[in-house]
Amino acid sequence: MSEENITNTQTSQPKAEAQNQENTRTARPFAKKRFESRRKVCKFCAEKIDHIDYKNIQLIKSFTMDSGKILSRRITGTCAKHQRQVTQAIKRDRNLAFLAYCLPKK
Ligand SMILES: [Zn+2]
Repeated sequence: MSEENITNTQTSQPKAEAQNQENTRTARPFAKKRFESRRKVCKFCAEKIDHIDYKNIQLIKSFTMDSGKILSRRITGTCAKHQRQVTQAIKRDRNLAFLAYCLPKK
């Protein structure tokens, strides 16, 4: 009798833990615990900017790398419509010498 009791208690506790884990898993099935993936939002859509001005160099510069390359949509999270405008503005600024075409690596 005493042996059965011990086995019962041992089996019942892990089951409860497993159920708790399952509950947390079902809430967010594909999320990893290591980092929280945040949804990228287009900066211009959020601020409701229809037209990107090439004269706003501070803003446009934030969409380029230090070397002068244009940052991809994957990285910045801008939508297709605004990415097209950003590239257009960057290329315009390069031609007007507001931005660099490329800079050497440090
Ligand atoms: Zn957008």
